[in-house]
Amino acid sequence: MSWSNWSGSVTASAPVLRPRSEDELAAAIRGAGRVRATGAGHSFMPLCESDGLIVSLDDLAGEMTVAADRRTARIPAGWSIKRLTAALWEHGLALANQGDVNPQSLAGAMATGTHGTGRDLGSLSTFARGFRVIGADGEARWCDAAANADLFQAQRLSLGLFGVATEIEADVVPAFHLAERIEKRRWDEVRETFDTLVERHRHVEFWFFPHADSVILKTLEPTDPCAPPPSTTDMEETAFRRVLSIAAVAPFLTPTLQRGMMRTNMNGRRRGPAHAIFPSDRTIRFEEMEYELPRAAGLDALGEVVRWIRRKRLPVTFPFEFRVVAGDDIWMSPMNRGPVAAISMHQYAKMPWRSLFADAEAIFRAHGGRPHWAKRHTLSRGDVDALYPMAERYRMVRRAADPDGKFLNPHLEALFS
Ligand SMILES: Cc1cc2nc3c(=O)[nH]c(=O)nc-3n(C[C@H](O)[C@H](O)[C@H](O)COP(=O)(O)OP(=O)(O)OC[C@H]3O[C@@H](n4cnc5c(N)ncnc54)[C@H](O)[C@@H]3O)c2cc1C
Repeated sequence: MSWSNWSGSVTASAPVLRPRSEDELAAAIRGAGRVRATGAGHSFMPLCESDGLIVSLDDLAGEMTVAADRRTARIPAGWSIKRLTAALWEHGLALANQGDVNPQSLAGAMATGTHGTGRDLGSLSTFARGFRVIGADGEARWCDAAANADLFQAQRLSLGLFGVATEIEADVVPAFHLAERIEKRRWDEVRETFDTLVERHRHVEFWFFPHADSVILKTLEPTDPCAPPPSTTDMEETAFRRVLSIAAVAPFLTPTLQRGMMRTNMNGRRRGPAHAIFPSDRTIRFEEMEYELPRAAGLDALGEVVRWIRRKRLPVTFPFEFRVVAGDDIWMSPMNRGPVAAISMHQYAKMPWRSLFADAEAIFRAHGGRPHWAKRHTLSRGDVDALYPMAERYRMVRRAADPDGKFLNPHLEALFS
């Protein structure tokens, strides 16, 4: 095995190439039968898996340039969100929103519609203004809303199907600071007031252990400049690790353990530069499924899944995460025609997750949900067509860009060939 994703659930024996120049990358693509790009390997689905070659841009040379009007920047596509946001900070700039963690590459995050939370804030894919892509023929092409417009529309959420992006032009905003507030609240109270919370705060989300009655509510609000805080974890990690190690050998204890853990104090405050406050450390490996649902259906769907878990006393050991994302017009985005509620279901990586996810997936689908492309789902080609009116146009652009299917792998071939 030469490559594995973050959770360890996907492995590939294909060689991993780390080109140092675009010429080296282009030659490798020309010479390969099949090739997939990888970023930080944070996807749970087999998106980077390949029976040919895997390319990583970790060593590719490149510099960021900020536009004169300071509204966009051209960024090496393989840069991690961590590296990018630190570099932007040096210019007094930031990304308008980020997800939970920052090791992902910019290209990988955009390729899967990675998002944070916030009523008016779209996914990272919505920040894209243009891409430099090395195609199946090894040639570099630029695409944006005016040049190669169809390729650009597809590339905004590309799943790596159209070539390897080496540079991305993206929207940036003036640097800002955030105040984080974490507190324990009753689930029924949050359910009642969530829409008001979404209106009131720039970012709001909550974490919900399905066997407990309280949730962990997190809000982020712009604040005055202040020093960066030390890196921290979201939850009391030692206690959580202990709970997981017991639940892994005695799953039937999960409800009792969760209720006990949620009796402890969960409150916390942090302030600092936005890029230091958005991400958390995730040191405990898990597997994840996420569905984006019409905003109005989100809380009902979560309530139904939680009732089912409680009724059957199922050992779902991680909390659900509930976020909101603005709608967009990206062909294959689950936020297309949004706004959406994003519900993430996690399971400890050392415990079974497949059948739990499959049953919950049916509930999310019944509420009009579409899955996050990077996270576990079981969509068929027919499901993709039913959920995405632009799916066939996306396939047409893929066939034109890559007639021999160089950038396909078995998972993507089933959905998009
Ligand atoms: C701990 C953890 C926390 C997460 N938090 C969030 C979150 O808060 N919000 C959210 O929405 N998601 C989240 N995710 C999912 C994650 O953001 C996505 O899986 C994202 O795609 C990971 O980026 P990556 O660089 O690891 O990409 P990879 O997983 O390596 O690749 C993802 C896709 O991008 C393609 N790709 C990568 N580089 C290129 C390139 N240069 N050119 C073309 N295609 C390319 C790959 O081929 C693949 O199809 C999380 C995942 C983990 C493990």
